[in-house]
Amino acid sequence: MQELLLDWQILTSESFSRSAVRHSLRLIRNIYCSRANVAQKTNNSVPNILTFILSECIIVCIPCKITVPFENLNNHLWNRHKVPHNLRPAIIAGFDGLPAAQNIESLQPHKDGSASLPYLASPTPGFQCRRCEGFKTVNWDVIRQHAKKKHSITAPRCLQEKPEIECLLQQWTDHNPKYWTVLQSDQPQETFLENHQSSQST
Ligand SMILES: [Zn+2]
Ligand SMILES: [Zn+2]
Repeated sequence: MQELLLDWQILTSESFSRSAVRHSLRLIRNIYCSRANVAQKTNNSVPNILTFILSECIIVCIPCKITVPFENLNNHLWNRHKVPHNLRPAIIAGFDGLPAAQNIESLQPHKDGSASLPYLASPTPGFQCRRCEGFKTVNWDVIRQHAKKKHSITAPRCLQEKPEIECLLQQWTDHNPKYWTVLQSDQPQETFLENHQSSQST
């Protein structure tokens, strides 16, 4: 409505004829009506599956339990949830202008040893290299290969060290993994999402 008033001020400040002003206002009103229709359709037919997490400046897909950068919203809504083309713009517009991660590159991993984030997938058992702590994986063969190539650690010795390198890992997305280690949490991971969904539906 603010934009509409602004348009009205611009129109009336110029020396337009009355009919030209009326015509322009009709056009503006049509644009707002069609936007409102899209928004209404969105509310009626599409479940509210995305949420903005202010503390992390990220957009999270609630059913997928992953972070979706702003630039990937359109693809995500279509590829994962088959949200029709006509409904996606209104959903995406709801996140436009928020200080959310815009692309996958801007998602930096958390500090190792963080508390697990309840809106992401549950921490996955994995391994962290003792010798270069930046290297983390959920795959035993990958850590074994890494230990052999980078640190000349034999397979039996790597197995011996296994209990020391086991850890829990979390990541922002289920592709392009950038893991960080998390502390064991006693709280069930689902609690946040269940609470969030029920508060959104009320
Ligand atoms: Zn999703
Ligand atoms: Zn290493």
